[in-house]
Amino acid sequence: MAAHAGAEDLLIFVRDRELGILLPAPGFQQTLPDAKAWRVFLESCIEHSFQEGELSFPTPGATRHVTGLAAEDGSAVVFLGDDHEIDRGVDISLLLPILAAAFDGERIASVAEGNTAVAKQTARQAKLLADSLDKARNELRQTLGEAHRANAAKDRFLAVLSHELRTPLNPVLMAASAMETDPNIPPEIRADISMIRRNVELEARLIDDLLDLTRIANGKVQLQRKIVDGHELLEEASAVVRGDPAVLQPQIKLEFDAAQHHIDGDPARIQQVFWNLIRNAVKFTPRDGRIFIRTKNSDAGTFRIEVVDTGIGIAPEALPKIFNAFEQGDTDINRALGGLGLGLAISHALAELHGGTLRAESAGVGKGATFIFELPAVKHSALALETAAQPPAETSRRRILLVEDHATTAALMARLLRKRGHRVEVAHNKADAIASGLREEFDIVISDLGLPDGNGFEVMQALRSKSRVVGIALTGYGMEADIELTMKAGFQFHLTKPVDAQRLYQAIEQIPAAQTCP
Ligand code: ADP
Repeated sequence: MAAHAGAEDLLIFVRDRELGILLPAPGFQQTLPDAKAWRVFLESCIEHSFQEGELSFPTPGATRHVTGLAAEDGSAVVFLGDDHEIDRGVDISLLLPILAAAFDGERIASVAEGNTAVAKQTARQAKLLADSLDKARNELRQTLGEAHRANAAKDRFLAVLSHELRTPLNPVLMAASAMETDPNIPPEIRADISMIRRNVELEARLIDDLLDLTRIANGKVQLQRKIVDGHELLEEASAVVRGDPAVLQPQIKLEFDAAQHHIDGDPARIQQVFWNLIRNAVKFTPRDGRIFIRTKNSDAGTFRIEVVDTGIGIAPEALPKIFNAFEQGDTDINRALGGLGLGLAISHALAELHGGTLRAESAGVGKGATFIFELPAVKHSALALETAAQPPAETSRRRILLVEDHATTAALMARLLRKRGHRVEVAHNKADAIASGLREEFDIVISDLGLPDGNGFEVMQALRSKSRVVGIALTGYGMEADIELTMKAGFQFHLTKPVDAQRLYQAIEQIPAAQTCP
């Protein structure tokens, strides 16, 4: 189109991203007199992305026209006073408020061809509209800001809350684990102790789920990948679920047909998905029902796990929603069985993080459910290389400096570690820890982060400046920022309280002993 409108006949509108409507471009009134600059701008718009004619329409008297150009991003340039005949059009009233707001009512008279009274009234209304839009935009901005702040506060609150809830569970869990296997305690009391341990673990798991959810929502979950045998993980997960004698369970049958069953993933996270699926199957299936855990290689390179049950099934309308956080199927049943409705949301996100998929099928209520988890399988050739590269198992004892101000926790941890053959020295504060660390040589320092006279970061920094000791940080906070801080301070492992003894042992075994203990 010929850009022959005078500069004063030109308006620029941009789409307001927050409100999603066209508003006069900020500042155009000031630059309007600069005809040349506008023309250059316009020509470049036409050349690049503007499409001609999308907003074209005639004015009521058909003697004046308003022609516009709309860009793909929704911005628009509008010309006044072009006298081209344009047949197709839009009702001018759609543009009047915008024009009026832009021109403060002045130009409306000429656009509306003499109908001054109507034009002025429209202009006033348009001005009011523009003012209230401005107000709404400011309020929206303020609300958005508040929502962001509230969201960050919620994350922090969840982290602090879970820390406060977790810390007291730590000594209980460790004491229960130690007593459960203590042959000096009568078996009937040990049974009660194992019930205590299971319930504390359940509590810890609910807290973990809340934390996981915040991490996943913020894209902060880091996978510790390695090549693992999917069948082994499935066997372990079902053994853990089956091993709970307090729950009378339906029969679980394993049917492993996958020839390629190794996966490249974070074993703890994959286990988490398996547990969730198997626990749900047990939870939602009556005692006389059946559960099948099947594997196969569905197509080249895919390891497919199916957890099939003959339980209560899922209604078709609930099926698309069960993977949403806090979403539960039949609320009455769920109220009776407990749970927060987070397990599947977390499992789904973890499956995707591993490049896999998780979905559910059910023929309806009372007809059982099938959960299908698919992951890329590791080829045998890659597997052989990986296994060959594995260092031999490291079984020698480690010299460990344990820094923990909570006396009961420290004593229990030291006892458990000594039972596994490690030599353990305990320090209850920063000063003692640094003194011990400088006096003796240690392979590993396991340190709590909050100490009465300082923190674990300072302990680590002091010891790392003198020796090659490897650090394991213990903290109730599992937020990503805390993990980053511990890594920066020189810790190589980060365990969240209550400490899972197996994870602690695994971390220790990954650290080679610098020299054999006397
Ligand atoms: P929770 O089990 O804590 O409620 P999940 O996220 O694990 O939370 O599951 C969400 C919902 O999906 C459950 O409340 C239940 O309604 C439904 N569901 C999950 N697994 C099964 C299953 N095997 N059979 C029937 N319904 C299931």
